[in-house]
Amino acid sequence: MAPAIKVSGLQRLGKKMICDVCGREGARIRRVTRTYGKGKDFLVIEKVPVVSCPHCGESYLTAETLHEIERLKLHRKRLAVERAVEVVGFASY
Ligand SMILES: [Zn+2]
Repeated sequence: MAPAIKVSGLQRLGKKMICDVCGREGARIRRVTRTYGKGKDFLVIEKVPVVSCPHCGESYLTAETLHEIERLKLHRKRLAVERAVEVVGFASY
């Protein structure tokens, strides 16, 4: 089984945020784990900040976050630490 690569280091964002979608204050940051690519290019990024807004119900990544994800992917060789993970495929019926 190939080792997965983990990257952390996304910047902290402020607690009180204005929602980009509806413009109201009170959007929250949730931290999620996202995976990119497959096989030897498989990359796990932990603690990706997802903005979720209780007013309009939207969940989205900010432009800054997307930019940071691109940067992490680009510099994965330098930033990543290798960690073994167990991978299972959901059975297809
Ligand atoms: Zn909103």
